[in-house]
Amino acid sequence: MVDIDNLNEMMEFATMEPETIKQIWRDVKANHDKLDKCEGPHEFKPIPVEGKTLVRDYLCSKCGGKIDAIHKIWYERGLEHGKNQ
Ligand SMILES: [Zn+2]
Repeated sequence: MVDIDNLNEMMEFATMEPETIKQIWRDVKANHDKLDKCEGPHEFKPIPVEGKTLVRDYLCSKCGGKIDAIHKIWYERGLEHGKNQ
């Protein structure tokens, strides 16, 4: 389901220059490379954004990779479940 925030984001994306889209893709790949090469476990700390208090991105203090709040929750839940194996 696409909410209004996603729709605005998609509309912005559709009007971007191809080189801007390519740079975003390179940035995404570089971030995934950092996360994949992390010695682990990640240690995510919130990245403060002015005007936003609930929806945050997090930065791993070990590898410098970024992740959103939802992925952080599931990552940490996976760590907890893994301890109980
Ligand atoms: Zn990491």
